[in-house]
Amino acid sequence: MRIDYKKDFPIFQKKINGNTIVYLDNAATTHKPRKVIESIEEYNKNYNGNPHRGAHYLSMEATKVYEDSRKKVAEFIGAKNENEIVFTRNATESLNFLAYSYGLKNLKKGDEILLSITNHHSNIVPWQMVARKTGAKLVYLTSDENGQLIKEDIDNKINENTKLISISHVNNIFGTIHPVEYIIERAKLFSSTVIIDGAQSVPHLKTDVKNLDADFIVFSGHKMLASMGIGVLYGKEENLHRLDPFLFGGDMIEYVDLYDTTYDEIPNKFEAGTQNVEGALSLMVAIEYIENIGMDKIQSLEKELLSYALAKLEDKKFLKLYGVKDLNYRTGIIPFNVEDVHPHDVATILDNYNIAIRAGHHCAQPFMKHMGLNSSCRASLYFYNTFEDIDRFVEALGKVRGYLNYES
Ligand code: PMP
Repeated sequence: MRIDYKKDFPIFQKKINGNTIVYLDNAATTHKPRKVIESIEEYNKNYNGNPHRGAHYLSMEATKVYEDSRKKVAEFIGAKNENEIVFTRNATESLNFLAYSYGLKNLKKGDEILLSITNHHSNIVPWQMVARKTGAKLVYLTSDENGQLIKEDIDNKINENTKLISISHVNNIFGTIHPVEYIIERAKLFSSTVIIDGAQSVPHLKTDVKNLDADFIVFSGHKMLASMGIGVLYGKEENLHRLDPFLFGGDMIEYVDLYDTTYDEIPNKFEAGTQNVEGALSLMVAIEYIENIGMDKIQSLEKELLSYALAKLEDKKFLKLYGVKDLNYRTGIIPFNVEDVHPHDVATILDNYNIAIRAGHHCAQPFMKHMGLNSSCRASLYFYNTFEDIDRFVEALGKVRGYLNYES
C-alpha cells in the first residue's frame, strides 16, 4: 500500500471544474507540503527581521532560522560543515556565480571547458560567456540516442587540457542519470575542477557530496518542495576560500574604508545584501519532510510509478517514447511525442483534463537538436504522484489524437 502523500499538499485538494489536478511537471517545479507553507507564515508572524545585522530579538531569530537552514542543507547532502553551503536564488545563479568567480579568474586561452550536450541552458550559456572572455575552448560530451553519455567519449575528452568540467547529474529532458562518479574519477587524473548540476538529481537521488567528491554542486529549492528564490551552491571549503565574491555590498564585509574593503569569511562573503530567510527556512522544512520519508524510499516510489506508467504506454502505437530502457539509469521523467500532434497541442489538450505536463525545448536546445527534435512532451513524476494520476494521464493521452480528428 502506498502512503497518500498528497493529503499533505494543499494544492492537491484544489479542484478545477470539479476535478483535482494531476501534476506531472515536477521537473519544472514541485509543490509544497502544508508544513512548508505554514512555516513561512509562522516565520512572518513571529520572527521576521533582517538577519546578521541587528542586536534585537527579531533580527537574532531571523539569523538563527537562516543559519539553522544552512546547517540542515549541509547535513542533508553530507557536507563537511555549514561553511560549505552558499545560499543563492537558484541553480542558475549558482552556476553564474561559478562562471564569474571561478571561470573568469582561472581559465585562459587554450584551456578546455568540458560540458555535456545534455546540459540545461543554464549550464551552457554562462560558460559561453567565460569562453568568449578568456579564450578558453568549449568541448561537449556527446550522447547516444537515449541521452546516455559514452565511456570512450568521456575518456577522450577529459585530458590534460580539461581545466573545468560542468555537467548535469540528471538530464532534464530524458531523465538520464549520468555517470558523474566516473567523470569525477577521471577528472582527478588531470586535476580538472568538476561542477555538478544537481537540479534534477538532489531532489530525487540520495546525494552525498563526500562520497561524490565533486568540487562544486548546485541545485534549486523549488524542485524539492521549497519556495522559489532559494538555491544552493555547495563547494569544498578549500575551494570556496579560493573564490572571490561575485556580488559586493552589505553583509559580506569585514571592514570598509573609502578605497578598500576586507571581506567576511565564507560563506558570508558570497551573500551580499539582505538574504531570502523565508526561502532558506522553506528549504529546511522541505528537507525535514523529505528526510522523514527517506531518499531511498523516494527513489523507489518514483521508480515504481515510472515502471507502471511505461508498462501502460509502451504498446501505444501513436506514441514515441524516448529515453533509456533500463530504469536504473533514469529518474521519473517520461519524454514522449504523440504522432501527428504538436507537443504544445498535446499539453493544451491534457490541460483540459487537469493534467499538467511540459512541452517545448525544455531549455536544452543543443540536446534537442542532437536528438533531431524541435519539441517534445515531458511528464515528470515526484514521490507524491499516484497510480491514479498515471491512469488519468494515460486515459487522457489516448484521447489526444481523437480531439484533433485523427484516428486514435
Ligand atoms: N539545471 C537543470 C538540469 C534543470 O533542470 C534546471 C531547471 N529546469 C536548471 C538547471 C535551472 O534551474 P533554476 O531555473 O531553478 O535555476
